[in-house]
Amino acid sequence: MSQVKISVEEAREMIFPIDTNIIREEMTRLIGKPNCAAFVRELLTRVSENAAPDNTLVAEGDVLKIFDLVLTQNGVIRAGAPGSLPFSPQFPTGNCATGSIATNNAGIQIGNIIPGAPVTHDELAALYRRGDGRVGMHETLHHAGRLVYSDQEFAIAVSTMPGMPALPGGHNKFAFSQYWDRELRNSFR
Ligand SMILES: [Zn+2]
Repeated sequence: MSQVKISVEEAREMIFPIDTNIIREEMTRLIGKPNCAAFVRELLTRVSENAAPDNTLVAEGDVLKIFDLVLTQNGVIRAGAPGSLPFSPQFPTGNCATGSIATNNAGIQIGNIIPGAPVTHDELAALYRRGDGRVGMHETLHHAGRLVYSDQEFAIAVSTMPGMPALPGGHNKFAFSQYWDRELRNSFR
């Protein structure tokens, strides 16, 4: 039974359940890595220093406390039709932070994962465990600002760190998102 394959098309349409305990566990594992902890601390220091005066840092930038606050507000939902935006091949769309801590309606939306080939349920669950934790970290960081820190604010902050690639040109939200997310993911190694 567990070896039955789910086709790519079936997986694309499947609304895989959100498990906030699994997301929190995966975020705990990631922020427990020294590189990740250092990158997040530096990122939030730079962003909060340059943010609007009322967009202050939530819970002193403790991502697990911020995630728990989101859970007491609008929580985490799975939504987003896959493939409508070329955000990233693995996480095409649907990933976003909604509302804000300040307005008591902070939420996180996580889109579907489209596997590259047919997968068993266990394999798909493993992809979601890893993917949801990573997206959860990115979207929780948006809620580190009481009024939400934007992808542009994060991208600018990353570009001022030593040794980082140049900021993408133009004002494309997805280019900014992809730019700082790449460095966040590098810190997970
Ligand atoms: Zn973002």
